[in-house]
Amino acid sequence: MTDTIFSKIVRREIPADVVYEDTEVLGFRDLNPQAPVHVLFIPKRPIATLDDAIPDDAELLGKLLLAAAAYARAEGFEKDGYRTVINTRDHGGQTVFHIHVHLLAGRQMHWPPG
Ligand code: 5GP
Repeated sequence: MTDTIFSKIVRREIPADVVYEDTEVLGFRDLNPQAPVHVLFIPKRPIATLDDAIPDDAELLGKLLLAAAAYARAEGFEKDGYRTVINTRDHGGQTVFHIHVHLLAGRQMHWPPG
C-alpha cells in the first residue's frame, strides 16, 4: 500500500496531538473533530482498509479496539458511553487509507449516522 499521512504521523514527520501510544498502536486527536472528543486509533503497521485485513491481522485489530477502550476508560468516557467507527472505502466515507478507529465522545450520538 502507498504511504499515507498517518504513517508520517507514526514516524513523527508531521505533527499530531498524540494522546495514546503503545508498541503497536498510536492514538491522536482528529484535525477536524466531530465531537468534543475525537481521537483516531491506528496500528503503526498500516493496513489500508478493514477489507484488506487478513486473519493474521486479528490480534492487531483486537489491540486497536482495546487501545480505544483503554483510553476511553482512562479518560472516564465509559460511564456516559462513546462511539467507535471504522469507515471503509467510498460509501463508508473513508478518506485516509490507513485503517483507523474513530473514538467520539463528550456528546449524545445519534442513529442512523449520515
Ligand atoms: P476517514 O474519513 O478516513 O474515516 O477519517 C479520516 C480522518 O482523519 C478525518 O476525520 C480527518 O479529519 C482526519 N485527518 C485527516 N488528515 C489528518 C491529519 O493530518 N491529522 C489529523 N490529526 N487528522 C487528520
